[in-house]
Amino acid sequence: MKTYPIRKAIFYLFFVLLSILSSAHLPVEGTKTAPNTLEWHISPSDPGCGKAFLKDLNDNPKFAAWFNQLSDQAKYNALRAWKIIKNKVYPNVGHRPWEITRQEIIARDKPSEIKILNAVENAAPPTNSQVAVAGAYSHELGGSVIIRYNNRSFDVNQLEPELKQYVDYLQMIKNDFDTGGNMYKNLYSNVPELKIQNAGAAGFHAEVLATNEVVRRLKAAGKFNGMKDLNKIEVLVKGKSASFGNMCRCPHCFYITDGVKMIGNQ
Ligand SMILES: [Zn+2]
Repeated sequence: MKTYPIRKAIFYLFFVLLSILSSAHLPVEGTKTAPNTLEWHISPSDPGCGKAFLKDLNDNPKFAAWFNQLSDQAKYNALRAWKIIKNKVYPNVGHRPWEITRQEIIARDKPSEIKILNAVENAAPPTNSQVAVAGAYSHELGGSVIIRYNNRSFDVNQLEPELKQYVDYLQMIKNDFDTGGNMYKNLYSNVPELKIQNAGAAGFHAEVLATNEVVRRLKAAGKFNGMKDLNKIEVLVKGKSASFGNMCRCPHCFYITDGVKMIGNQ
């Protein structure tokens, strides 16, 4: 068999180059100054993300302390929460008069909304320790509207993973605020002091608990396959007093139930 020395040499050179390239460490934004060996999976297409996150860590020592004590998996979840929550602007709207929302629902005449309206209006009113009643429904499930009230004694660890994923992060920001911190100014977008002050603990408000039950039932029916399916759920919230009316969501509920179709208010 005839040999071709030049072709051989080219092949050899090719493999040498390949091995050099594969062993090279290509710099990834954020990796060098990362607080530990955590890899920045969050968004290879957004190299600014790592830098911005590290800036928030450096500017908020309590955030850094909280973040650094997490397991690698929890760090990943926290980083994900940071990215989503920082970039999703809180609407910062007020409560709406119930009658306005009520009339709008009647005018739209959408069967699912009418069904939820009737269920919420016919539900037992919130007790003294409760603030609101929420009705949640998915037309894919049918059946009756799920009614829930805010419940301080609810164990947020019982929430479905899709609704629980930001709770620790949100609670960390709230705990910081309650102990005199200003982390909410950096880590949120458009959440004013009054809203973080009134937010309470994360994860037990009526709209979250009603949504959670519908998610649970959708899963049981094989009709919930990830966050995108939160848009199969419609939710209406009615406050205890006239001034609460059709209540807006607190920052916690806004991020926990992001993707759900809220009726009347945000
Ligand atoms: Zn809330």
